[in-house]
Amino acid sequence: MNTCAFLNEARKEAIDTVLECDAYRGGKLEKLIVSGCLPEKYAPELFPSLTEGDVFIGCNDADILLEAIERSYREGRLNLVGFGHESTGMRVLTTPLHYAYLKIADGCNNHCTYCLIPKIRGQYRSYPIEQLAREAESLGDLSELILVAQDTTRYGTDLYGASRFVPLIRRLSQIESVRAIRLLYCYPDMIDDALIEEIASNEKLIKYLDIPLQHSEDRILKLMNRKGSRKSYLDLIARLRARIPEIAIRSTFIAGFPTETDAENAALADFLREARLTNCGFFAYSREPDTAAYRLPGQVSARVKSTRVRALYAVQRAISEEFLRTKVGAVVPVLCDGVAEGGDRFVGRAYWSAPEIDGKVYFQAPYAEQGQTYLVRVTAADSYDLFGQTEDYDESAQ
Ligand code: SF4
Repeated sequence: MNTCAFLNEARKEAIDTVLECDAYRGGKLEKLIVSGCLPEKYAPELFPSLTEGDVFIGCNDADILLEAIERSYREGRLNLVGFGHESTGMRVLTTPLHYAYLKIADGCNNHCTYCLIPKIRGQYRSYPIEQLAREAESLGDLSELILVAQDTTRYGTDLYGASRFVPLIRRLSQIESVRAIRLLYCYPDMIDDALIEEIASNEKLIKYLDIPLQHSEDRILKLMNRKGSRKSYLDLIARLRARIPEIAIRSTFIAGFPTETDAENAALADFLREARLTNCGFFAYSREPDTAAYRLPGQVSARVKSTRVRALYAVQRAISEEFLRTKVGAVVPVLCDGVAEGGDRFVGRAYWSAPEIDGKVYFQAPYAEQGQTYLVRVTAADSYDLFGQTEDYDESAQ
């Protein structure tokens, strides 16, 4: 079981799932291997008490998984965190076959005061360009290759002395089996003219950028140890739109950071109204032990945090509805992700949506194949999703 541990909620979910899985022992379950961030950071405390886990391995120990399983039959419970080696580019796809995530670096040096990730994943480490190119080639035909890291824009600063994000994108764009590339987790202060130009001119790059901003107000950004300001963020958004008018921008924001006032939360809502981003996620601040923000005075109550998250969602929902309404009647290229739940239609995404996190397009078609793109005439929209059909769909024939 692979685990996440950067929020209290994630740690709780991981431990609960280990306990749930343990119920299958003696039947379907022979060995329970707990891997990833939870053992990586908490094995010393958890290994003695979470005895339902047979083997603990960390974030970079996947290469010893088989050996770990074999040894556990001979030796019983084992804590093998830190015994493996970092990824060498060999992958087993856990996503559907037509898209894949490519992790271009691990770790983070940004030290946002609310975030535990640098303590779990360590210093920023880029993987070499050619290793990543080999890994991308090994993934077969891809409709979308999605570049991820804790901070993608800083790619190469550790390895090559300066950002090599654009050269990496160019190298990956040369791979014939990769049809399109999507960029996630771009830290705002590293989005420079060279990157904007590359997005504008590189036909393989999807005109979509994920820029986690976390807040809009300068005082809160400073307390979060985030670089940038309300003005620099609005300027960046304007620069992107000036060069790439159709660009879809996604972001995430935290509500209820310690000392955040109602007025600052309202100012964030105003920022959303001004920025009119295509997709946004909002999270209530989670107070994590071992982070700098944990010790800040002025923690906000859970009730206020959830009220603020709801208020931000309401603002963004109206923006999203307005954007999607402009698509009704239009014909939109949609990448088919498969058959929708219920089996009566297909589900896919327009370019402004990344898988799992953004809205979908549900469409009727006589036939559609996962990983292929279809022209869909949009007939309706709700808050986040579109509905439509391909031109050759004949309802009366169904
Ligand atoms: S940039 Fe992201 S991963 Fe790095 S410290 Fe900040 S929130 Fe955490």
